[in-house]
Amino acid sequence: MEDFVSRTRQNSDISDEKIDAYNEYCKLIVYNRLLSDRLKEVTSERDKLKQKYEILQDTFPNGKHKRFRRNAGQIKRIFKCPTCEKSYGSEASLKNHIKFKHSSYNLQSPHE
Ligand SMILES: [Zn+2]
Repeated sequence: MEDFVSRTRQNSDISDEKIDAYNEYCKLIVYNRLLSDRLKEVTSERDKLKQKYEILQDTFPNGKHKRFRRNAGQIKRIFKCPTCEKSYGSEASLKNHIKFKHSSYNLQSPHE
């Protein structure tokens, strides 16, 4: 490497382009080395985090499910049944309720 550099300085046959290419080549080797070192660091860091994550998962196995579960009290129930005290979140639910819970009463009442 040193021989090549000193030769290029003395020998005018070798163009600046070739010196630039050599410098570029040296830079690439250094960058490549730095990147592979960094990659090793990041990989070992990732493995450590993965281990921590697995430990946490073992410690709180149901934590994820509890957090995302929506309880019944959070659903708005604005459709109230006129016959009983039940209320529903949608008109369709209320209609179903009336159909199944109060339809027999409704059918009988005209005959009495
Ligand atoms: Zn009802």
